[in-house]
Amino acid sequence: MQVAQRLLASGLLVTLDYLGEDTADAEQAAAVADEYTRLIVRLAAAGLAAGGRAEVSVKPTAVGLGLAEHGDKTAAENISRICAAARVAGTTVTLDMEDHTHVEATLRLVAELRGEFPDLGCVIQSGLRRSVSDCAALARPGSRVRLCKGAYRAPESVAFPARRDVDRSYVRCLRVLLNGPGYPMAATHDPRLISIAAARASLAGRAADSFEYQMLYGVRTTEQHRLASTGAQMRVYLPYGSDWYGYLVRRLAERPANLAFFLRSLASRS
Ligand SMILES: Cc1cc2nc3c(=O)[nH]c(=O)nc-3n(C[C@H](O)[C@H](O)[C@H](O)COP(=O)(O)OP(=O)(O)OC[C@H]3O[C@@H](n4cnc5c(N)ncnc54)[C@H](O)[C@@H]3O)c2cc1C
Repeated sequence: MQVAQRLLASGLLVTLDYLGEDTADAEQAAAVADEYTRLIVRLAAAGLAAGGRAEVSVKPTAVGLGLAEHGDKTAAENISRICAAARVAGTTVTLDMEDHTHVEATLRLVAELRGEFPDLGCVIQSGLRRSVSDCAALARPGSRVRLCKGAYRAPESVAFPARRDVDRSYVRCLRVLLNGPGYPMAATHDPRLISIAAARASLAGRAADSFEYQMLYGVRTTEQHRLASTGAQMRVYLPYGSDWYGYLVRRLAERPANLAFFLRSLASRS
């Protein structure tokens, strides 16, 4: 809460993620949804939620997706509950995208739940071959879509093996989203993609409040503030909680230099 408050006070927006994924049973999934609803109530009470300044990001498998029995139904009920709390608080929910085996089910959930909660956001990973056509299908009025490269390994049959192709796909997806009537959220720290997003947004005649940039908490902080100082909307992804292993491993995989950084900070704490 303190970090969220500090980031908001410095002119950034925030999305909070309660760490955890691949829940083992329906009770645990419901407990994660409870945590999110409590968080949203706290954000609202602190005056941070209104206008979506602080919103939440939810991993579908943390709230039931993938459970052997009634996984889709459990996830849908839990996400609805979180969305209902967010609506009362005046903020929004974005469903993170996980491993490629969950993409179809996650997009189905989004399509189903947007009937009742049109502002439910979702994520597209440019690393997947299917993503440009998913962006085209999602480019609808008001549709909130976060575009990222993707943090999960996937086989060549479904994903681009070369980083260059992942970046090209990112630019194609960006073009579709920025030219469409939805609300694109460009989640990347890649300086080249950030400047392409800015140029394309300007070409598409987009107002600064009709799209946003997103970055992870602690990554390229100076750039986050620079973008915000230009009048752009800049949202920081802020994870919290004790189930940090999966998140840490993905951050190490995308930037091995983080291993030295992580070990240094462990050593300086001990
Ligand atoms: C707000 C947000 C939400 C996300 N949500 C999802 C999601 O739902 N599903 C999903 O699969 N992925 C998600 N991701 C992760 C994303 O897919 C990438 O794995 C991650 O952002 C790294 O890719 P990049 O676009 O920053 O480009 P890269 O080419 O990986 O990085 C570009 C440069 O940014 C810096 N950088 C990048 N990552 C780090 C890091 N971890 N630590 C320090 N510096 C770094 C480095 O300087 C690097 O050279 C999200 C990312 C962000 C920012």
